[in-house]
Amino acid sequence: MEYSITPPATPSLAVMGSDARFPVRRIYCVGRNYAAHAREMGQDPDREPPFFFSKPGNAVIGAGQDVPYPPLTQNLHHEAELVVAIGTGGADISEADAENHIWGYAIGNDLTRRDLQSAAKEKGRPWDMAKGFDHSAVIGPLHPAAQIGHPNTGAITLQVNGATKQSGDLSDMIWSIPEVIAHLSRAVTLAPGDLIMTGTPAGVSALKPGDLCTIAIDGLGSIKTRITERSAR
Ligand code: MN
Repeated sequence: MEYSITPPATPSLAVMGSDARFPVRRIYCVGRNYAAHAREMGQDPDREPPFFFSKPGNAVIGAGQDVPYPPLTQNLHHEAELVVAIGTGGADISEADAENHIWGYAIGNDLTRRDLQSAAKEKGRPWDMAKGFDHSAVIGPLHPAAQIGHPNTGAITLQVNGATKQSGDLSDMIWSIPEVIAHLSRAVTLAPGDLIMTGTPAGVSALKPGDLCTIAIDGLGSIKTRITERSAR
């Protein structure tokens, strides 16, 4: 195959205990998957089935890398999330079979331009520019499920400059990971390399240049991200 331009590089994630990287295809995100966060965003957590939005695969940035404060926003928010990496694709995956499709897990930060999201909600417009900007998917190294199993309980916390902002438990998810995979795979065919960011607990707040964001999930260690000055692009 000859391309008319040089093909774009494949985004990828580090893998714990391996030099091989995990290639990233798509990034799906679950909205409002923790009741307390749904309430803090002004929604009734009990009323709706899971819904999804996405980020481009190349929005991925690894743990320990600086994230420049993004353009167009004055209200950049952190969202600590458990990330699921799909290793075996499929459509209409059953809840019972869902874990067989999971390659591994990572810690993620669904960075959000909250002011753009609020404006989009108000006008009934898409969330793409609020959620899918450059470096908006901070994702740490993948832990293979073959080694760590399938976490469905345990603390998920986020600190900004050492002060705890988010503190939840994976067992507080409204929709479990198998349920999320079952729902999502009815809407789209999942493929190896797809990532799912599974929603954030309550306590989202604004980040500013200079802040150090630390996210920890039981069994997955922690990741650190420094927000740096908005850069000229
Ligand atoms: Mn999120």
